[in-house]
Amino acid sequence: MAIDLIQTLPVSTGLTLPPGGAPLVLAQSAFVLVSWWKVLILLLPFLLWGKLVSDVFDKHADRFHLGQEKWGAIHLFVGLLAAAVAFGMPIPAWWGFLIGFLGAVLILGADVLVFTAIVNKDERVPDEHKLKLDMSAMAEGSARRKAAKQAATVSLGIQGPDGTVAPPKQESPEYQVRAEAEGVYIKARENRASRVVISAKQGEGSGAEFVIDGVRHPGETLSAPQAKAIIDFWKACAGLDVKDVRRRLVGELTIVRDEIKSKVRLVSIGQQGGLRLTMQFDPAQSVLRKVDDLGLLPNQKTVLEEMVNSPGGVVVLAGLAQGGRTTTLYSVTQMHDAYTSNVQTVEIEPLVELEGIRQIKFDPTGADEYSKVVRSNLRRDPDVLSVAEIPDQATAQEIANADLERSRVYASVTADTAMNAVRLWVKAVGDPALASKGLRGVVAERLIRHLCTNCRVPYQPPPELLKKLQLPSKIQQLYKKGGQVLVKNKPEVCPVCNGIGYEAQLGIFEIYPIGAEERACIAKQDWNGLKTEMRKRQLPSIQQVALMKAAEGLTSIEEVTRLSAKQAAKK
Ligand SMILES: [Zn+2]
Repeated sequence: MAIDLIQTLPVSTGLTLPPGGAPLVLAQSAFVLVSWWKVLILLLPFLLWGKLVSDVFDKHADRFHLGQEKWGAIHLFVGLLAAAVAFGMPIPAWWGFLIGFLGAVLILGADVLVFTAIVNKDERVPDEHKLKLDMSAMAEGSARRKAAKQAATVSLGIQGPDGTVAPPKQESPEYQVRAEAEGVYIKARENRASRVVISAKQGEGSGAEFVIDGVRHPGETLSAPQAKAIIDFWKACAGLDVKDVRRRLVGELTIVRDEIKSKVRLVSIGQQGGLRLTMQFDPAQSVLRKVDDLGLLPNQKTVLEEMVNSPGGVVVLAGLAQGGRTTTLYSVTQMHDAYTSNVQTVEIEPLVELEGIRQIKFDPTGADEYSKVVRSNLRRDPDVLSVAEIPDQATAQEIANADLERSRVYASVTADTAMNAVRLWVKAVGDPALASKGLRGVVAERLIRHLCTNCRVPYQPPPELLKKLQLPSKIQQLYKKGGQVLVKNKPEVCPVCNGIGYEAQLGIFEIYPIGAEERACIAKQDWNGLKTEMRKRQLPSIQQVALMKAAEGLTSIEEVTRLSAKQAAKK
């Protein structure tokens, strides 16, 4: 808009001719600059109003389809009217300036009030997006938007069953949700999480937890609607039914970040007061380990290899869900040569494809029962059948009654120690004599966190501690978790473990062959006798292996205690 900064003023010069001289030509300008501050003050309401219209009103009209062009024309007309009033008055006169200013403020203010009143009545505008004429709220809102804008970027490639999921239009609510969902994923990966658990609950307790080395850590605080929106977003990407908030749904995605592809397994399930989504990253990587990478002690490896190489019989494999159970099953199964012998598995949800091994996927919604699938496969006399779960007595009995001279069966159970695994097996079969008859061995695995070697803190253990833990008194040094490192003599969060003090996990095992003596104890359910027989073999328990790892500086006494406490809590 054109603003006249300069006004023509009548100038009274009061010309006189100097006596005896030529007439002086008037050099003084006939124009005088209007004082600049008056113009600035007049411009002020226009600036504020213009910012409000372009930053808020215009976007609002666009977002809720209120007729952006129509409103744009109205605002422009009102703005011109206000300008005409403001600058049409003779500004140097005090009354002209005042009328111009007040007039502009009134006209622009009316525009704001009318727009706000009309759009707030409009049904297309959701309640939470009604305009409030509260300056502090506006400032707060703009700061929040700025922060969100900075954080809200979409950078991941997401591939679902229907192909790549295209990012939504920027500044749409869907874009914001996607950006937040990506933010949770990226933060989890940067923190080395293997899983994220997102909970949407009524009331308290919504948010994302990161599972790092098997331990849950608070990840991201989210409001219930935020968490629900993020869960729905990931479910939709994986082609899962967003409306189903009760049943267990399993899906898969490929997420590309900085050109690195990751497989993500999604499990959504209803929970009390809401919904939960677990995202597991690269499940194959987490469960596939060669026997040399399992972390077995040398004598344990020998015992396990002997057990694997002697044909027939049942070997019970134990671990905790999400705590090495599948890893143990896959690692031991893969110790058999799948090209020279017939190796099969029965699983509900195979996490990965095992090379050369026939994996039979059991469909829980199908007509067949698990035990029947196990039976029909045992009848084909496989050399090895790995049964990933023992859901009922019928399945356990099928295994116990199979031709165990011919077939080796691995029965995987959820238990924390070898002793508990055997007891669980006997209970599942329901007949101690039958359960013990074909039993050849038991393998239990637990996972313990590996100390971060970049920040672990050495200390001299007091002799009482060593005595209590039955560790050799000659140990001079143990380590505890750090989490911080000194950079230029200032403590900073350790960049390797992000301040957690641990990185990665170690598998620790109990491996016991079961011979005639052990079988006799099991048939009588003489658990103390079984313990004595196992001890005679001089093979270490999980607790003992964990302490050995602590003595080597690989883990901490605190971590060993945590492991035992979990064990005790389960009993
Ligand atoms: Zn560290």
